[in-house]
Amino acid sequence: MTVLAKVSDRRAHWGALAHRAEADVPAIMRGYQALLNGVTSRILEAVSEGADPLSLAGNALSGFSETLEAFETDIALEAAVRGYLLAGGLMGRKAFLGWRVLAKAAGAVAMEPGYGTDEQLANHLRPSIAAWVEQTSRHETATTAQQLDKYLKEAFTYQTPSGMGMTPDQVAAELKRRLTKGNKHRAEMLARTLSLWAYNEGAMALYRDEGVGAVEWMATEDDLTCPYCMAIDGAQMPTGELFGLAGDEIDGLEELGGGTMTLGFDTQHPPLHPHCRCILAPVVLASQIKG
Ligand SMILES: [Zn+2]
Repeated sequence: MTVLAKVSDRRAHWGALAHRAEADVPAIMRGYQALLNGVTSRILEAVSEGADPLSLAGNALSGFSETLEAFETDIALEAAVRGYLLAGGLMGRKAFLGWRVLAKAAGAVAMEPGYGTDEQLANHLRPSIAAWVEQTSRHETATTAQQLDKYLKEAFTYQTPSGMGMTPDQVAAELKRRLTKGNKHRAEMLARTLSLWAYNEGAMALYRDEGVGAVEWMATEDDLTCPYCMAIDGAQMPTGELFGLAGDEIDGLEELGGGTMTLGFDTQHPPLHPHCRCILAPVVLASQIKG
């Protein structure tokens, strides 16, 4: 009997985590777009009332950080629960044993043999998710402010081809065009990052609960051309330890174009970068999954 599945089989098997995370992206993206479009509406309204452009970004963002944090916490919790359950399913039914023990210890009435309710699971996952969301939402709010400043400056200094300045109506139309286009790209990137992060966070929690000693960074089939992801593809770490620290430099694989990227955050699991499609797979000995 073959003990180790072929690498391509394992990739396809665990790639289900990335595929399911991607399937959630359109719905999450709509939520982010609604948030960003709300900011845009406030700016356009202020422009129509003759507000000073340089003060607009800051004012329009008041309360944004808190709203973003609440939105991301809810979405990430739901996605992490799905990631946890999916990872358990991928490991096999016996993999739910650890969660059942935890749920029992907490006095939970199991929804079905193997695990507690989604709500109990969400509470189990909440602390680490809250910590991550707090850190990233602050970072995302700062980036959003920078982008808004850029769009505002561009729109207000834009000149027609004949060198004329624009009327207030033209400024508002140009600003709306830039902000809406910018919002769409940003919403998609944020949605993909959040979804993939949360699925991996849930999966990692499952591995930890199941006593899986080590995890493996695995690129999925549609992420095999990224020089950075492929540089760490196959790397193994004790479960819960960091693959890299904020500021660490990663050299891309030469045959995929090389280059260097700097990690923005301490990284315990994927994503490595925006639009990353990597996942964490458990390193399980054959003796642990049989019998
Ligand atoms: Zn990746």
